[in-house]
Amino acid sequence: MREQLEEIRRRALAELGDGAVEAAIENVRVRVLGRTGELTEIMRAMRTVPNAERPALGRLVNEIKSELEGRIATLSDALKRAAMEHALGAAQIDVTLPGMHIPRGWLHPVTLSRERMLEIFAAMGFEVVETQDVEDDFHNFGALNFPADHPAREMQDTFFLPGGLLLRTHTSNGQIRVMEQRRPPLAIVCPGNCYRRDELSVRASPMFSQIEGFMVDRAGAITMGHLKGVISEFLRAFFGQGIGVRFRASFFPFTEPSAEVDISCLLCAGAGCRVCKQSGWTEILGSGMIHPNVLRAVGYDPAEYQGFAFGMGVERTSLLKLGVDDLRLFFENDLRFLGQFRSASEAAS
Ligand SMILES: [Zn+2]
Repeated sequence: MREQLEEIRRRALAELGDGAVEAAIENVRVRVLGRTGELTEIMRAMRTVPNAERPALGRLVNEIKSELEGRIATLSDALKRAAMEHALGAAQIDVTLPGMHIPRGWLHPVTLSRERMLEIFAAMGFEVVETQDVEDDFHNFGALNFPADHPAREMQDTFFLPGGLLLRTHTSNGQIRVMEQRRPPLAIVCPGNCYRRDELSVRASPMFSQIEGFMVDRAGAITMGHLKGVISEFLRAFFGQGIGVRFRASFFPFTEPSAEVDISCLLCAGAGCRVCKQSGWTEILGSGMIHPNVLRAVGYDPAEYQGFAFGMGVERTSLLKLGVDDLRLFFENDLRFLGQFRSASEAAS
């Protein structure tokens, strides 16, 4: 029995070497020290041992038991410490390392221009209302007095969507949407994106933004004189007080009479250059008195109400203001280009 005990001790200690993993340690604990383990079995068999040998064997059993228990405790502690050190090591932070650089953004020059434009109109008492980009034929064309065979209604100019819908080709749908829901007096500006089937080029883009504006009140209360006043005031506030402004007779389906508005060329100050084709003037927006058919389409009696409307391209106006000669620069988002307007953005914020 003594040899048997020594064999149990030798084998257990061999398994409890310095590199013993948790499973091996647990295995020895159960097999040797467990309730039905090897040492327990020996104690039970002690009854068959002669009385004289029992005390010595009993001491040996206890000695092996405490030796193995001590060894298991040492190994378990070492494993726990190693796990802790590993966890701490993984989470170690070197506070002397330089921080991550997160660059600060700034507003796009077209965004800045649009905000400035809306600010000027707001100062004149106009309310800003945004309407939808996805429209039906009535709100984009029909109610705006576009004849059924107008070229803008053809596939080559307009993005049509399933279900009779389309992407609005101008922000003039804002006039219809607002007038349908409200009664005059109205002084509204509608900023938003518009879509036309154009290739991106120096002068055109399939998506661009406009600001539509209109003012409606009792017949006789709003005249072409108010239109000229508001537009001239806006253009001088935006481009500078010294700017020349002129109105030219034109034609649009949704206004009668209609006028295109020019400003004196910003490059040559009216003297004539290549950009203004020697005319000294640059076209800037379209405007006019709202057509009686448009008023009828929203349920207004043209004998009772009248007003004016105007619309301008935000990118185009920004090009002129910033002296940029290629529309594509606004859409390419090259930070070397956009960065030139960074200080203007920071001044505005
Ligand atoms: Zn010029």
